[in-house]
Amino acid sequence: MMDEVALRPEHYDRYPHMFSGSQRQRIAVARALMLDPSILVLDEPTSALDVSIQAQVLNLLRDIQKRHNLAYLFISHDLSVVRYIADEVMVMYLGRPVEQDSRDAIFESPQHPYTQALLSATPVADPEGKRERIVLTDELPSPIASPPGCTFHPRCPRAADICRQLVPPMHDTAGTTSWCHRPWEMKDETAA
Ligand code: SF4
Repeated sequence: MMDEVALRPEHYDRYPHMFSGSQRQRIAVARALMLDPSILVLDEPTSALDVSIQAQVLNLLRDIQKRHNLAYLFISHDLSVVRYIADEVMVMYLGRPVEQDSRDAIFESPQHPYTQALLSATPVADPEGKRERIVLTDELPSPIASPPGCTFHPRCPRAADICRQLVPPMHDTAGTTSWCHRPWEMKDETAA
């Protein structure tokens, strides 16, 4: 299993403190694979690694996924990592889902106001692909005292009275699943 995660035989008898951060991540994956799972939950697996090492670990995870026919539930704050690894993306805000769609749909035409603001703040290498920056007002509320109704309402440019009172239900709009009281605005934007 250590071979499976690209560790060499000379590593096998080392003590934990003798491994680098990326080697320790690979050992964690090897331990999980010992149970022959069909799904792995990977919670910020590359956040503590240098960018160059992150790419190695992500490529290894993709290889392992193919070899073992695995599903990953991959949790990350790094949108470039999400874009690289994910097939399907669910965007969360204060612990609740706000939008779910294919990776390409989320990154190319985000519908929910939070996803739009999030992506507008992400640097892109191609100047032509740059989005207009959406600056959110108000501070991020505490997750233990989240606002009533839609938790995004204090910062949302589309917020209406209903948003301050009721938790938004799930809507399917033009193939996108979102949790918002005003899905017709999403429809309008998609049509525009
Ligand atoms: S429910 Fe209201 S406040 Fe929440 S994202 Fe939709 S429009 Fe904005």
